[in-house]
Amino acid sequence: MDPKEIKERMKIPKQAMPEQAPEERVKNFYEVPYGYTAELAMEEAKRCIQCKNPLCVGGCPVNIDIPWFIRLIAEGKFVEAARKLKETNGLPAVCGRVCPQEDQCEKVCVVGKKGQPVSIGRLERFAADYEREHAEVTIPAMPKWTGKKAAVVGAGPAGLTVAGDLVKKGHKVTVFEALHVAGGVLMYGIPEFRLPKKIVESEVEYLKKMGVEIVCNAVVGKLETIDELLSNGYNAVFVGTGAGLPTFMNIPGENLIGVYSANEYLTRVNLMRAYQFPEYDTPVLRGKKVVVIGGGNTAMDAARTALRLCPEEVTIVYRRSREELPARIEEIHHGEEEGLKFMLLTNPIKFIGDDEARLKKIECIKMELGEPDESGRRRPVAVKGSEFQIDVDVAIIAIGNGANPLIPQITPDIKVNKWGNITVNPDTGRTSKKAVFSGGDIVRGGATVILAMGDGRKAADSMHEYLATGVW
Ligand SMILES: Cc1cc2nc3c(=O)[nH]c(=O)nc-3n(C[C@H](O)[C@H](O)[C@H](O)COP(=O)(O)OP(=O)(O)OC[C@H]3O[C@@H](n4cnc5c(N)ncnc54)[C@H](O)[C@@H]3O)c2cc1C
Ligand code: SF4
Repeated sequence: MDPKEIKERMKIPKQAMPEQAPEERVKNFYEVPYGYTAELAMEEAKRCIQCKNPLCVGGCPVNIDIPWFIRLIAEGKFVEAARKLKETNGLPAVCGRVCPQEDQCEKVCVVGKKGQPVSIGRLERFAADYEREHAEVTIPAMPKWTGKKAAVVGAGPAGLTVAGDLVKKGHKVTVFEALHVAGGVLMYGIPEFRLPKKIVESEVEYLKKMGVEIVCNAVVGKLETIDELLSNGYNAVFVGTGAGLPTFMNIPGENLIGVYSANEYLTRVNLMRAYQFPEYDTPVLRGKKVVVIGGGNTAMDAARTALRLCPEEVTIVYRRSREELPARIEEIHHGEEEGLKFMLLTNPIKFIGDDEARLKKIECIKMELGEPDESGRRRPVAVKGSEFQIDVDVAIIAIGNGANPLIPQITPDIKVNKWGNITVNPDTGRTSKKAVFSGGDIVRGGATVILAMGDGRKAADSMHEYLATGVW
């Protein structure tokens, strides 16, 4: 691209994405942003200067050819752009919505050095949505069956990526999923207003059309063990069971009525549709004063879900300061627009209930920031004598999740670390047990969708090699 054109492109302002007004969206569960129109997408795509050395590609954990798909959008070739994306990313409509682009591709975008980076995530979302809404979904030509079978345990982003990659290489794949639907956290955790479930469902349908068999309501470890899968005809197994075990605070009163883990709360409201009462009769306490404990994406999702059930007040209680909030900036911004309150440098120490064991108050203590801890963030330290109480009737604990322990418990030759995460060779996803591979949150602890997918991709390559050669 000649320097004159680059200069012209650099003058184009970042295109805003239209979205629901805060006062409207806080009363519903529809998706917050509407997405780009074709005109907005083409204009935004023109901001990309088609770098010879595109740093954005290195910033993407699955190395999408970003300048190429953006160029196709700029030329109005939207379906082609989506197909380019799908060469390296099996879930572009999901990643365009939930990936932390500000810490990945957009963080290193060259245009961002002098102004706002190109909106790579929004363009990814646009192309994937356009294909889903306007074009025939085409199934790539499938190779002949290799004669090998693989089992995938867990239908989250890691397991679904493995399944898609292996089936494209000619292997038969069965995915076993504990829940009644496939998608993992994409279905049971991330709320509808951030990731409409129909998008996840259509990505799952695509895999099924390619020949992946998905068996729901199948808890591996309760039905069949990993060893039984291996001796019942599966030549290799991928374990992608995620980090669905909620961490509690271990403080008095955690058993009171009105105290939820974020997992339980989000599952009840989103997956089991408590918000569509009485059409769905899943019970959930709506409350008047809701407190969410924690500062990550899960806390923001729980808080913004609670806001939509119309209590008087929803407050995030977080033990560090605003600068350390791990949630995406966009989520914090959206939450604040919707009326979310923050009580920072504060830590709960006791839940207090009434005679009927219903939550009434939380005793908290003020915190100050000390020296940096092993995570590099300043360690919060309690301020002596600063205890105080707040009125509350629903508390949601969102301080993290641990590894699902079932598979390692029943398969002792799969090695785990001190936190219960399965240990693997990071380049191949191979575990300590022959023919068993793993990746995603069960290996990393709670991480991101794209990292789980990247793990799935590496493991699928290595599984393919193992299935072809039998060499471990
Ligand atoms: C509320 C919330 C919001 C998040 N928001 C974001 C975000 O905005 N962006 C982002 O990038 N990441 C986000 N994350 C993190 C992201 O969702 C995870 O990192 C990702 O889903 C991990 O994928 P996975 O495939 O390893 O596991 P999961 O998605 O957890 O899937 C594991 C699956 O395995 C199943 N399973 C477990 N045990 C068994 C068994 N024994 N037999 C059969 N099936 C089993 C589970 O039911 C589940 O469906 C969020 C997480 C949460 C909880
Ligand atoms: S770094 Fe930014 S400008 Fe350069 S190719 Fe990537 S998206 Fe385009």
